[in-house]
Amino acid sequence: MKIAIYPGSFDPITKGHLDVLHTGTEIFDKVIIAVAKNSEKKSFLTVDERVNLIKESVQHLENVEVDSFEGLTIEYAKRKGAQILLRGLRAVSDFEYEMQLSQANSALSSDIKTVFLITKPKYNFISSSTIKEIFLNGGDISKFVPAPVEEYLNKRNKC
Ligand code: ADP
Repeated sequence: MKIAIYPGSFDPITKGHLDVLHTGTEIFDKVIIAVAKNSEKKSFLTVDERVNLIKESVQHLENVEVDSFEGLTIEYAKRKGAQILLRGLRAVSDFEYEMQLSQANSALSSDIKTVFLITKPKYNFISSSTIKEIFLNGGDISKFVPAPVEEYLNKRNKC
């Protein structure tokens, strides 16, 4: 059984992330989308909020598990019995960082391979940070995020 881990911050999950995840589910038997708990990075949503929003956004996908983890991604992948790390690529600007990360991971464990997927052009420019910026300035984010994220953020804003 080919199991892939799709790790990331997902702060919040976007339609770009979902597009990569969806393609991943067509290639692999199971994809575990996992929120990385990173105390260094200042986050917008808590890990629990992010996990819950992902769960609500992936209900239509059968072979997806939603989780969170702490520590090295490669160790988490081993614990889950995964052979693949799934990552998305948008522009050339993502490439250098992603290449370094994947080479560091394969130096730590040569058994686990990173697979990169490219999103549809219409999702290419979407990043969680752009979405936060648009949302915090009162813009419409419905085109960029799944419905549960938009609903949750709008509700939270009114509280
Ligand atoms: P991280 O903090 O690990 O970069 P992100 O949530 O920002 O976490 O991204 C997780 C993965 O999804 C990364 O591989 C990133 O390049 C990819 N990604 C983010 N947005 C998009 C998008 N719009 N299209 C394709 N891949 C994306």
